[in-house]
Amino acid sequence: MNFCSNCGARVVARIPDGDHRERWVCPSCGTIHYQNPRLVVGAIPEGEDRILLCKRGIEPRYGKWTLPAGFMENGETVAQAAQRETHEEALAHIEIIDMFSVFSVPHVDQVHVFYRARLGAPEFGTTPESIEVALFAEHEIPWDEIAFRTVSTTLRHYFEDRARGTYRVHWGAITPPAPR
Ligand SMILES: [Zn+2]
Repeated sequence: MNFCSNCGARVVARIPDGDHRERWVCPSCGTIHYQNPRLVVGAIPEGEDRILLCKRGIEPRYGKWTLPAGFMENGETVAQAAQRETHEEALAHIEIIDMFSVFSVPHVDQVHVFYRARLGAPEFGTTPESIEVALFAEHEIPWDEIAFRTVSTTLRHYFEDRARGTYRVHWGAITPPAPR
């Protein structure tokens, strides 16, 4: 961060009184600019025994497949974010079934949350964000072409749970890939 979003002065990094870590502080108006992780919210839309995936039409990971997901907006609930993102990326309406996975991704300061969801109707389509949208049976999942590790990890847990006949919430952390 360079400039204060409140008054436009140049900010400095320092530990505010009573705090324990550096923040961007405005020496002019005193605003402390806290920066916290962002929530990425998505869904596993189920259409009978298949699930909906989107082929990304935007960077990063253009052309790779993902579950519909995106950044939560102010003023909405987590479940509403999953529904909105699914509609924005796949033109599909979903009904939330249950929380499924929560993964911290600390190296990019994000938390990724996925719900199991039911497709209201087998209606979906491409959007500016998705160049292809399709339903996949388990054996059709393009495992080598999945855009994000939170998505492939979520899908693996999903099919394991489904085979077992019982779903639970999965949580953990995704760490950076080892340097080559
Ligand atoms: Zn300021």
